Amino acid sequence: ADADAPPATESNALRTPIVAVLGHVDHGKTTLLDKIRGSAVSEGEAGAITQHIGATAVPLETVSQMAGSLVKPEDFDLPGLLFIDTPGHHSFSTLRSRGGALADIAIVVVDVNDGFQPQTLEALDILKRTGTPFVVAANKIDTTPGWNPQDGSPIQGSYESQSDSARGRLDENLYEIIGNLSDEGFSADLYWRVQNFQKNVGVVPLSAMTGEGIPDLLAVLMGLSQRYMKEEMEIDISGPGAGTVLEVKEERGFGATVDVVLYDGSVREDDTIVVGGVNGPIVTEVRALLQPRPNAEIRTEKRFDKVDEVRAAAGIKIAAPDLDDAMAGAPIRVVRDRSEEDVIDDVTSELAEIEVDTADEGVVVKADTLGSLEAMANALKEAEVPILRAEVGDIAPRDVAVASTAREMEHKVILGFNVDVLPNAEDELDTSDVRLFEDDVIYQLIEEYEGFVDERQRAQQETVLDKIIRPCRFRILEDHVFRQSGPAVVGVEVLSGTLKNNTNVAKWEGSKPTRVGQLSGIQEQGEDVSEVRAGNRVSIAIDGPTVGRQIDEGDELWTELPEKHAKILEQELSDEIPADELEALTGYLDKHRQRDPFWGK
Ligand code: GDP
Repeated sequence: ADADAPPATESNALRTPIVAVLGHVDHGKTTLLDKIRGSAVSEGEAGAITQHIGATAVPLETVSQMAGSLVKPEDFDLPGLLFIDTPGHHSFSTLRSRGGALADIAIVVVDVNDGFQPQTLEALDILKRTGTPFVVAANKIDTTPGWNPQDGSPIQGSYESQSDSARGRLDENLYEIIGNLSDEGFSADLYWRVQNFQKNVGVVPLSAMTGEGIPDLLAVLMGLSQRYMKEEMEIDISGPGAGTVLEVKEERGFGATVDVVLYDGSVREDDTIVVGGVNGPIVTEVRALLQPRPNAEIRTEKRFDKVDEVRAAAGIKIAAPDLDDAMAGAPIRVVRDRSEEDVIDDVTSELAEIEVDTADEGVVVKADTLGSLEAMANALKEAEVPILRAEVGDIAPRDVAVASTAREMEHKVILGFNVDVLPNAEDELDTSDVRLFEDDVIYQLIEEYEGFVDERQRAQQETVLDKIIRPCRFRILEDHVFRQSGPAVVGVEVLSGTLKNNTNVAKWEGSKPTRVGQLSGIQEQGEDVSEVRAGNRVSIAIDGPTVGRQIDEGDELWTELPEKHAKILEQELSDEIPADELEALTGYLDKHRQRDPFWGK
């Protein structure tokens, strides 16, 4: 950023496209960014790159030096590329602008050997939702068996100097990736075969380690931006700035500061700014605009250089009073020559867009940024999990108190995405019945929670099943009457279900069930048992009836089910009981319903 204010006539200009890197963990996002920065620097002269807060600017000149013949500076009028330094879709979904994605273009890194993984799919979902154009970096081609590395070379040349077998293996992996993209609804091809990058996704084979293919990646990024995004890049660089808060950080000597990516206009020292905060918009005045010191001077006392003005696109640290409640992911606007009220309204309505629907029963969600909070809310909605409260910030005692007011045990839960637990909240968690789930991958966090809910439901069903009377059909065997009455002792065969001691025994007389007595003992081969499964023969004692009167040899008998138990079994637990028991239940219900069609409903 230069110190002299630009002449008014120069105010319309093209800004740098903002590039984000996404992809599954370990697929090489960090290595790719490091390689681009590193080779830019080794391309020589001062000004090869500019380190921003949270981003790296690579000017067109340097892009062209790195890409060789693939990028001729005279073909472009965009000033270069601004790479967001924090890779991963977590930071990507944080980075939003006016309802869309802050990044203008994305690189999805896929390990050629590992192929599509859960976070690859998650990244593609986010890009689809935000409508962000992207290219796929098919990374780690140097790990192809038999690969002969060609450091820093464009892919065509490198590809041609490989053996047939190495090329064959790479091709196989590349086609797999293209196939996977097509499964996700993206028509894709190797980038040199793509005619229309608006319709088709280009796949660039490369190695973040050896640098081969990186010239191609840069060429595709530049070409895509120049061709399809030029209009969006036209901004009034001296107009009031608009940006997104990346992070809120305490900085020695400055207090709370915000790291911002500026995507429109400019910010100047002494500008009045409006920043989205936990309790609504914060209006404050810029005290200092800070950029990191160049690498060589990093060990000196001062870590930052002050600048007078920054123009989009840029990453900048802003020091100003009252920023403690600022929210990561929130909008930031410069007021300058507009009405402060209008700007506050803008920020308010942007914050409202991101507000999460909450219910009066549900879980508590905490996330590190507005964007991730929104992504969590979307994912929970899809999983049909209601939300009681959703906020940006670390887990505080108040959150535990709120979660404990949920009525259902499975909602007495805090889901923490990429946040810390404040020490006093730990104590609260220890003494309350609130459960905490934490993760920094959304789908994993939700899977963990769903696992807990399933487990609980299963345990609950088991307890219910324990308490409930279960159906059973059995038959008195011929020539197995051991005692007529007081109690009657007979041999029976259990036909379906499980016969349990101390249950009531019923028999159908015509269409009406009658209780004939209560089971007071079961003996299996002379041993007392408390229950017996279908298929077995046992002798049982029944208090109440006399053989030859209420019951007789050959009679079919049933365990008597209270109507309420029959209903719970049929409606809630039919998946939990064995097939023969279900058969007994159906038989029992059928018999009742011949008389009363609504019995047990
Ligand atoms: P991230 O989690 O996506 O940021 O992945 P990293 O950049 O940390 O890379 C994960 C591992 O893969 C590291 O050990 C890297 O050195 C390695 N790696 C990344 N890119 C390449 C590549 O192109 N070739 C090879 N051989 N290894 C790579």
